[in-house]
Amino acid sequence: MKSYNSFNVARQQVLEAAKIFNLDDAITEFLSKPQIEVNFTIPVKLDSGKTKIFEAFRIQYNYARGPAKGGVRFHPEETVDTIRALACWMTWKTAVVDLPLGGSKGGVRCDPKVLSNSELERLSREYIRAISPLLGVDIDVPATDVYTNPQTMAWMMDEYETINKRHSPGVFTDKPLQVGGTEGRRDATARGGIITVREACKAFGFDPTKEFAVQGFGDAGQRAALLHKEMLGGGKLVAASDSQGAIYNKNGFDPEELVHHKLKTGTVLKYPGAKQIPQQELLELDVEILYPAALENAINVKNAESIKAKIVCELANGPTTPEADKILFEKNVHVIPDILASAGGVTVSYFEMVQDKSLFFWEEEEVHKQLDKKLTLAYNRVCEAMKEKKVHPRLAAMLVGVARVAQACKIRGWV
Ligand code: GLU
Repeated sequence: MKSYNSFNVARQQVLEAAKIFNLDDAITEFLSKPQIEVNFTIPVKLDSGKTKIFEAFRIQYNYARGPAKGGVRFHPEETVDTIRALACWMTWKTAVVDLPLGGSKGGVRCDPKVLSNSELERLSREYIRAISPLLGVDIDVPATDVYTNPQTMAWMMDEYETINKRHSPGVFTDKPLQVGGTEGRRDATARGGIITVREACKAFGFDPTKEFAVQGFGDAGQRAALLHKEMLGGGKLVAASDSQGAIYNKNGFDPEELVHHKLKTGTVLKYPGAKQIPQQELLELDVEILYPAALENAINVKNAESIKAKIVCELANGPTTPEADKILFEKNVHVIPDILASAGGVTVSYFEMVQDKSLFFWEEEEVHKQLDKKLTLAYNRVCEAMKEKKVHPRLAAMLVGVARVAQACKIRGWV
């Protein structure tokens, strides 16, 4: 299996968009590289008394439109290039939804599954100790991502506030409600994705009440399964997968019971009445809507031809490679690209920053309403760009995002 360098993929997407706009060499080069990149090592005392050294990153890809914004991942396969790619995608993601923010990402190369809670707390705190001066509500604002959660943010915020000797809850988002978090954050990514599916169904006549499948039954995948029916008036979840395997039942699963089973056993496998299928097969099922909600490069040149879904709603970051994109476009599959489909998370993060700044907190309905407005507008703007330039949806979303960032760089006099 060909292995992909995610940053090459991300850069290729930037170059493609820059070419369509005829951007000059300087701005193209500027947008194809991170503005600030920090690689560092953090020593962490393990429960055994030994010290382990972890490799860590924080990359502020572009901050022309506002403070850099992006999550922190704890993953054993993290590299500087995965973080570069993710920071790059965050830049276009915040721009597509028209948030006054830039893009960043961070990560620690570690296996959080083998670390105890107290080891994870020390790791989170050491991460902040190392880069605290680089963070700030008007500099760079981290959030959760793969294998980090609101508790991680609470530890990080506490460490930051201890170092800086003042309250600054808005420097982190996705915090627990008790320490400046917002209502509506938990399902924001999935909710945002489903709003875009709703708009796609309206615009192109797809039927959301038919079968759908979820690849990656983690937080976003589970929330999508739960919200799909509620928000789209129907739909049958016929398949779901996680890192341990995939399951299928043509009669459908009750999403709530499946979430319960996953929470209890740690996997979707062995769910009563389900048939285990190869993970790859899930992606190729004949469903109306496929939600890839796992990691990068899941849909690639090897399997793109076999995708039968009518809509691919990318809740994960970077699940489709550029070659696969082209194949899906030719096959008339409507891909709602990650920088749009998964933008609900950062949009509600932005609402959290606004609330933390004003010390006035919104009700959940208000968060849902504002999220709906932002995502509906963004989806329709991307559709216009698709029609105007006759390009596939990812390129259309990139065109919208890249144009906004390029304009900000120009207006600042940077290029
Ligand atoms: N990790 C989420 C993303 O990739 C949220 C980032 C944020 O809220 O800053 O979009």
